[in-house]
Order: sequence, then C-alpha cells, then structure tokens
Amino acid sequence: MKALVKKYPKRGLWLEDVPEPRMSENDVLIKIKQTAICGTDVHIYEWNEWARQTIPVPMHVGHEFVGEVVKVGKEVVGVHPGMRVSGEGHVVCGHCRNCRAGARHLCANTKGVGVDRPGCFAEYLAIPASNVFPIPEGISDDEASILDPLGNAVHTALSFNLVGEDVLVTGAGPIGIMGAAVALHVGARHVVITDLNEYRLDLARKLGVKNTVDIRKTTLPDVMKSLKMTEGFDVGLEMSGSAEAFKGMVESMKHGGDIALLGILPPHTTIPWNQVIFKGLFIKGIYGREMFETWYKMSSMLQSGLDIKRIVTHRFPLAGFEEGFEVMCAGRSGKVILDWR
Ligand code: NAD
Ligand code: ZN
Repeated sequence: MKALVKKYPKRGLWLEDVPEPRMSENDVLIKIKQTAICGTDVHIYEWNEWARQTIPVPMHVGHEFVGEVVKVGKEVVGVHPGMRVSGEGHVVCGHCRNCRAGARHLCANTKGVGVDRPGCFAEYLAIPASNVFPIPEGISDDEASILDPLGNAVHTALSFNLVGEDVLVTGAGPIGIMGAAVALHVGARHVVITDLNEYRLDLARKLGVKNTVDIRKTTLPDVMKSLKMTEGFDVGLEMSGSAEAFKGMVESMKHGGDIALLGILPPHTTIPWNQVIFKGLFIKGIYGREMFETWYKMSSMLQSGLDIKRIVTHRFPLAGFEEGFEVMCAGRSGKVILDWR
C-alpha cells in the first residue's frame, strides 16, 4: 500500500510502497479516506529536535483521519466492516492504575499512532477496536477527519465552566480557534483570542470569534478596558506554546481564575509565581482528549450547531502532500486535508 514515510532522518516525507499493516485479534483494519495534517506532523516533516529523539526511521506517520472499517479481528465486538470511523491516536496500556480507573487519557504507558507506531498517512491503518470512534450521521468527512485536534480544543475548553465567563485564548492556531469557537458555543460572554499572525486572526474571525487581538499592536489591559472588563479573565486557555503569551495570560487573570495549558511551553518558560499564589490561580495541564467523553461531547456539539467547517482551508490530493506541508509550515493555513480516495 501507499504511505507517507519518514524514510530518511532529514526534512521531508516520502510517498512509498509499504506492507499492509498486520492485525491482532483485537484490532480493526481501516481503509483511509481522508487525513489531516497536525502540528506534530509538521515537526516530523521539518525533523526538529523532538522528532529526532522520538520518531523511528523508517516509519509512516499521521494520526488524524476518517475512514471505513474493512476487517475486524476475531475478538472484536461492536465494530463492523462498513462503519465510518475515526480513532483515538493514543493507544493505552489498559493495566496501569489510571487505565483501570477509566482515566485512559492519563495512562502512563501511552503509545502514539504515527509517533511510536505506524500512522494513518497510508491506505490502511490497523488500531485496537477500543480506539475506534464511529462517526454519527450528520458529521461530514471533513469534520470527522479533524476530531483529534477538535478533541484537544474541547478537552481544554471544557476543563472549566465557561458559561457567562470571560475567556482568553492565547494562540490562534487551528486548536486555539476551535477552542474559542467552543467557548462561544457553550455560552462564554467575551472570548478574546490573541496571535501575532494576521492570517490566523482573520481565520478566527471567519469562525465567528470577533475579539481578535494582534498582541504586537494591542495590550491585554487595553482589550479588557475596551470590553469594560474590570477584574481580569475568568478562564485562560493557553494554546500557543509561547512563554510570553503564558506570562501575559497569568498577569491578566482575575483572582481565583482558571488556566488550562495545552500549548507545549519551552523549557525556559518562567512562571510569575507571585501572581499564581496571591491571586489563587488554578493551573491544569492538558494532554490529548478524554477517552471517550471528549469524543461524545464534541460530536454532540457538532450536531447541536458548533460550526468549525471553515477551519479547513486547504485540501490536496495525495500527490500534492508536499504543498500541504509547506503551507502548514508557513503558518498560512488552518487545517490541511489530504485525500486518499
Ligand atoms: P499552531 O502552532 O498552529 O498554533 C500556535 C499559534 O500560536 C500560532 O498561530 C502562533 O502564531 C501563535 N503564537 C505564537 N506566539 C504567540 C504569542 N506570544 N501570543 C499569541 N499567539 C502566539 O499550533 P496548534 O496546532 O493550533 O496547537 C496549539 C499548541 O498546542 C501547540 O503548542 C501544540 O504543540 C500544542 N498541542 C498540544 C497537545 C497536547 O496534548 N497537550 C496536542 C496538540 C497540540
Ligand atoms: Zn495505562
């Protein structure tokens, strides 16, 4: 089968023929229809420090997909050939304390599809049946292929009660924009999103987030003043991975505010501890999505009017995958879809 392989330890991916995946009796085989490119895939494509230390070579990568089940292992129940599915990209151990407690997103032994084991940028993917998420009717293939990053956004946003609250989202990447859209959908009052990239802020406006801030030109205190906010943000969703953005967020929170950290902050990041302590802030780290509560919540919200369709800005046939990666690398895209049909 065809697959996008990290064939050499250098920048790029290579469209290659590889053997079809082997299945265990608990696995299902999925014929891939569409995939989407994640920031993680961009790191693998660019071959940054993290990728060099993490990704085995050669291996095909990718973890955002929609496809159709074509075969199931003999122990599988509840998943059948013909089902339209996406899947959770974290394969958990099933026997650690958190797995046994049903908190699988906190498994200490997680293996990543397309990171630690072969991925979905291929004609076929084999994953455990317990990782499969059947797509309800009314959810399009485009939406289904980006449930993984939407899940990051939903898991982060729903970490705290947002109803009637003022929410600051730092970073208008695809996940930040979707997080802001979720905050609005569930009833936040003001949702402010910041970035340094005008293309991204414009995309946020297209998804209905009207308080967009180019942080190079406007300060958060000025934004709060213009919105007649007097006490700071109730909830902060850090989705940029920028130390400066995190510092600005901590300084703009109300006393007793809640912060969720999804963006992967660099090691040199410092925390204004006096702000955290004297304001009594609560900070929560976020990894992945809750299995499978986040998946149910996000598909329900898509069915009840959460509109994220415009986050998909580009689509390419498989042969155009390099163009897809380059547009992501340049920061001039939302989600980029590759068509495998
Ligand atoms: P992205 O890189 O596309 O978006 C990040 C955005 O932040 C960019 O638009 C960038 O211009 C902006 N930014 C940079 N500095 C800024 C600043 N000082 N203030 C405001 N904005 C700034 O990433 P994404 O795919 O949307 O993902 C968001 C973050 O979440 C990334 O850091 C990613 O690595 C991380 N992530 C974490 C998990 C997890 O499980 N914890 C999962 C997926 C992604
Ligand atoms: Zn586990």
